[in-house]
Amino acid sequence: MTQLEFDQKHLWHPYTNVTQPGPTFLVKEAEGLYLTLDDGTRLIDAMSSWWCMMHGHRNPSITQAIHDQLDRLPHVMFGGLTHDPAIDLGRKLLEIAPSDLTRIFYCDSGSVSVEVAMKMAVQYQHAMGFEGRSQFATVRSGYHGDTWKAMSVCDPDTGMHHLFQGALSVQHFVSRPPVTIDQEWTDDPARNGLGGLRSVLEASADKIAGFILEPVVQGTGGMYFYHPEYLNQARALCDELGILLIFDEIATGFGRTGELFATDFCTVQPDIICLGKGLTGGHISFACTMTNDRVATGVGGGNPGIFMHGPTYMANPLACAAAKASLDLLTGQDWRGTVARIADQMRAELAPARDLPNVRDVRVLGAIGVIEMNHRVSADQAHALAPEMGVFLRPFGRNIYCMPPFITGPDALSQITAGMLRLAQEL
Ligand code: PMP
Repeated sequence: MTQLEFDQKHLWHPYTNVTQPGPTFLVKEAEGLYLTLDDGTRLIDAMSSWWCMMHGHRNPSITQAIHDQLDRLPHVMFGGLTHDPAIDLGRKLLEIAPSDLTRIFYCDSGSVSVEVAMKMAVQYQHAMGFEGRSQFATVRSGYHGDTWKAMSVCDPDTGMHHLFQGALSVQHFVSRPPVTIDQEWTDDPARNGLGGLRSVLEASADKIAGFILEPVVQGTGGMYFYHPEYLNQARALCDELGILLIFDEIATGFGRTGELFATDFCTVQPDIICLGKGLTGGHISFACTMTNDRVATGVGGGNPGIFMHGPTYMANPLACAAAKASLDLLTGQDWRGTVARIADQMRAELAPARDLPNVRDVRVLGAIGVIEMNHRVSADQAHALAPEMGVFLRPFGRNIYCMPPFITGPDALSQITAGMLRLAQEL
């Protein structure tokens, strides 16, 4: 059995039918922008490997940091012990993250950081004497991960809530924020989404611990960019009703949107933030949940006072070292200029897609470029064209999109946008 045959017969891939797996490339190595396949074909990774590989593959500073750490302390439990990589990363995060968020909980993946955030919110409410507040409100078309509690606040249709009915906790959904980032804000609560949000939050305030959403960019739920004023006003509403505000910045963190964090588009800050994906520049799985003093001391002052979470690989030193190296790389360069250059070029080169039949919308925010079609686009068909285009793109739903690594130069970016236009024409 060849390697690929074994893979197809025995290995489950994300969101696939294991008995009828889709086409799959065998990647032998990767460097910078390029994936090298078993037959020598080189493809630009226009997805930054599901949005995390922002400095490109095998970045020398990040791999060096992992090597150095491997020789010193690959892992140690975090209960009762600590280490320099965790502390140094903590210092760095405090330097760059929204200023209210001073308490850090390290964990393994984005979904887990969402679980942690939701548990923090429930424990906080409990400590404040609101034992009935264990549910959550969220917006439609959101995505927060595939573990149970995270899944319960994903969009009920795309998250297939009907399939898991009875297993998912009851949550409260409001429509997605209707004013896009490019539209003029309206203070009319019937048109800006806040009227609907107020009525849902008010009706169940005694049951709701937190309002969780992806700030400004809804990723998996449709690559939709909405107006940050929604978040400013949602903050006020949450304060009025004693509900915590949770931002899931797993996809938006670390410069992807053109701001270091999507929170930076706002004049307010959340109580809890989830970070992951780009945290280690995509070199190793890692995430964290950060909160403010109010929530941290609230949880600490309740009964039992301790926060009930502690994964085996919490604060893994290899991951902390990779993350510190990645964040140093990011902040040590003109990331804002780089992302703006990528955005400008994508805006110019994707614009012709507007004239194609079946294209519904073309939009760019930071280093995220999207062609939205009128119909669903097949990832498998895009896959089949990848070797010819020299670009790996994996559309989902109606969206042909890219999130190129920040190291993508003008020529490679033109190759990516040409690939997207071709998919929009042919699929
Ligand atoms: N939240 C958001 C906004 C995400 O985009 C993702 C991953 N696509 C997650 C949570 C889940 O992260 P992970 O896949 O690392 O569990």
